[in-house]
Amino acid sequence: MNATSPSILIVEDEAPIRRMVRNALEREGCRVAEAARLTTALVSVGEQRPDLVILDLGFPDGDGTQFIRDMRIWSHIPVLVLTARSTEHDKIDALDAGADDYLTKPFSVGELLARTRALLRRAHAVAGATESRVCFGDVEIDLSRRTLIKAGAAIHLTALEYRLLSTLIANAGRVMTHRQLLREVWGPGNSESATYLRVYIGRLRQKLERDPAQPRHFQTEIGVGYRFQL
Ligand code: CA
Repeated sequence: MNATSPSILIVEDEAPIRRMVRNALEREGCRVAEAARLTTALVSVGEQRPDLVILDLGFPDGDGTQFIRDMRIWSHIPVLVLTARSTEHDKIDALDAGADDYLTKPFSVGELLARTRALLRRAHAVAGATESRVCFGDVEIDLSRRTLIKAGAAIHLTALEYRLLSTLIANAGRVMTHRQLLREVWGPGNSESATYLRVYIGRLRQKLERDPAQPRHFQTEIGVGYRFQL
């Protein structure tokens, strides 16, 4: 971890998983606090203002997804969800409620650390975001002038393509669900489907990826949504 000892709150009712996550994060130099119940967790988030919350979804005293909704009313702290439920429905609900990313149990320590680093980096980048220039692969975007250059050549995007791209850039590193993207890009009353979204992601890949068949930046989260990776 390169930020100065980030603080992380683990909210998980199973002690062995809490211990495993804590040990892994402490070895990386993080400061770690634990909560075994959602009620104590909400207080801890308010008092300790951690840099990241790692949250299980199933608790005896409530539901992790509702916890995210409650927390999102007053906090933008990134949330990484741990879920044993492998159904896409639960992941999508948690992401729609405001979670930033998820890990399905059982997960490896390597995966946990990679996701944690990515979310801490993202929070850091958002906090210091004054740059209007964004670069990835061989693409350079000037957000204030709305110009795109790929390998030295100007690229034209339609208004919708540009709106989709800027929404993905604003949420770089996060998993965005189909519903979130459709709502933000096409508007709240849209009746367009995930298929429509796939067409537009395909166009962005064609125009901006080095190898559109092996996308590195516009990643598909199967059955869930998309993740833009710088
Ligand atoms: Ca649980």
